Order: sequence, then C-alpha cells, then structure tokens
Amino acid sequence: VSPPRVFHLLPSQPGIALEGDPVNLWYDPEEKVLVDTGYEGNCDWIAEIPELRWILLTHHHPDHAGNLLHLVNRFPEVRIVAPTPSAVDPSLYEKLMPARDGESFGGFIALHTPGHTRDHFAYYHPGKKALYTGDLILGRGTPWVGPPEGDMRAYLESLERTLKLDLIHLYPGHGPPGDPGLILWTIQHRKNRLKEVFEEIYRRPGLTTQDLVRRIYEEKEGITFSPVTRIVAEMTMQGYLDYLIEEGQIVRRGERYEPLK
Ligand SMILES: [Zn+2]
Ligand SMILES: [Zn+2]
Repeated sequence: VSPPRVFHLLPSQPGIALEGDPVNLWYDPEEKVLVDTGYEGNCDWIAEIPELRWILLTHHHPDHAGNLLHLVNRFPEVRIVAPTPSAVDPSLYEKLMPARDGESFGGFIALHTPGHTRDHFAYYHPGKKALYTGDLILGRGTPWVGPPEGDMRAYLESLERTLKLDLIHLYPGHGPPGDPGLILWTIQHRKNRLKEVFEEIYRRPGLTTQDLVRRIYEEKEGITFSPVTRIVAEMTMQGYLDYLIEEGQIVRRGERYEPLK
C-alpha cells in the first residue's frame, strides 16, 4: 500500500486563504481517486496526475472545489462525487454523483460529517485504514465552526462518529497528515474551549461576544487581531455561544450572556 500523493495549493489572489494554510489535494494512485480540487485557477499540478477515475469533494468551499472544468477536460471519463451541486459548474452536472452517507465510490466510503458546513463529507478507505477529513479535522489547529453554516453540536457528533472507525492514517484538507490521536485532540480542544467560555460567563454574567473574544483570545492567549481576523474570531465565539445556549447552559439577553446553572 503506497501513501497518497499530495498537492498543496495556495489561492491565486493572496489574502483569501480560508484556513490560513494551503489546501491539500490528495491523490491515491492505486484507486485513481482525487480528494478535493483546490482553489480555482491553479492548474499546473493536474499534469502530474497520470490517471483519474473519481473526484471526491469534501464540501463546497472554494478552496476545495475549484478547477473541475480543467480536470474534466483532461480526464473526460472522470466522475465527480459532490455533496451539493452548488460548487459545480452546470455544464458538469451529468458527471455528477451525489455524495450519500455510507455509499462507496472507488473504494472510498462517503461519511456525512456536518459541522464545518452542512454539506461536509469525509471519505474513508477501509482497506488502507485511511480517512480523508477535508475541513472536519486539520493537521494543524482546528477548522472554522461558526455562523452562518457552522454547527458545533453537529461538528462534535461528526468527530465522535469518526472515533469508531478502524484507522491508521488521517489525511486532512489543511496541514500535515496525522494519526487517529488527532481526532481526540480536536474533540478535547473544542470541549475545553466550551468550558472556558461557560466559566467566563459564569464568573462575570453579562459579558458580550466582544468581551469574550478580548478576555479569551487577546488577554489569555495574547493573540493580536486584524480587523478581518477579529470578525472571524467573533463568529467563532458565536458558534460556541450558540452551542451553550442550545445545551441550556447560558441565556442571551440583548447583546449579553448569562449563566443558567
Ligand atoms: Zn471549508
Ligand atoms: Zn478548507
């Protein structure tokens, strides 16, 4: 069993990298499968793929689902497994197969793993004990889970589900490959953060989202934000707050949050 080949892609316009890192496109030469297709506009890497039967898309974000027309031009027989048609040019609809939970495509089983987006899928190869995680699990840090599409409860459930797989290798959408320990680390990181947010609100009822970003990210962790990354941090915080409200741990009064227990 040979490991998959990886292509690292950055956006052609600087400053729009969604998770900060280049995106990873994984090519399995034995199955002739490519997981994700990168930012639109970077195509040199396509020449390095000798054969391609399947394209498996993890979700519709533009860092993962570009360049499809170029790939289909080079490999006219390829089939595209897509969670939603929204990322795909209408001229390619006849190449498209909907990703369905539990269905197998070119030796890979599609697993619906919502949380980062509603349409997120991971792909599991049981023979190689390998999971291609897209933006469910990153090789470095944790992915964006916040409004409008993010859902922390769904995200945690998706992570718990992957814990049950027989795994050796994790191939993430960003960052280096990992081992199954990365799943537990990701769950723990999220749970610790939720606990931290709850405890801040418990000790100081009436904090706003902006207060929490200041206390947790800026004061405790010493992170400095640009205007754009501050908005991202506030939206991430909102994802935690929505989860705590749903769990009945806090309530929202206007812009402020108070503990319920
Ligand atoms: Zn994404
Ligand atoms: Zn991504």
